[in-house]
Amino acid sequence: MRDFTLIYGCMFSGKTTRLIGLYNESEIDINERLVVKPVIDNRYSDNAVHSHSGLQVIGHRLFKAEEIYPLITPHTREVYLDEVQFFGPFIIEIIGELMSNGIRVIAAGLDKDYLNQDFGPMRALKKLSNKHMQLLAKCHICSKEATHTFRTIKTEDLVLVGHSDVYQARCKEHWEAGMNAKAN
Ligand SMILES: [Zn+2]
Repeated sequence: MRDFTLIYGCMFSGKTTRLIGLYNESEIDINERLVVKPVIDNRYSDNAVHSHSGLQVIGHRLFKAEEIYPLITPHTREVYLDEVQFFGPFIIEIIGELMSNGIRVIAAGLDKDYLNQDFGPMRALKKLSNKHMQLLAKCHICSKEATHTFRTIKTEDLVLVGHSDVYQARCKEHWEAGMNAKAN
């Protein structure tokens, strides 16, 4: 059975926490599960996948999506990918192959960048997945449901690694208000 669950949402929506939760709920043997995430920042070199809520699981950090292949064994039945938006477009093909081989795929990623445009492979991954989980955060300004990621500083770099120092979750209204204020 082809089975691909995609967890997506803006920053601070608890995507990694949900991914780790699904990992911990899995009933298959730990040796049949694989956890990977891309290397996006060399400052952190450990092999753990951390959530902001403090949960963690041990995984592999990959520089390129194709580094998944040698990690797959005949025993692999589930593959968990965190920060999947940072893997290049080749991840779409790789996930398709895993699914064809009967491996269950669970991925978490930021679906939109700070300009509210589709992030890397995310649009294609939404189409490929047969289960979606859209998670919501809380607006930094009004505490209503947030779907947008707002960058608080001015820079044109698409990938700017940071956390609450440079990003906020915002509702559509306050994301637009913030973008308008930055443009002026
Ligand atoms: Zn708001």
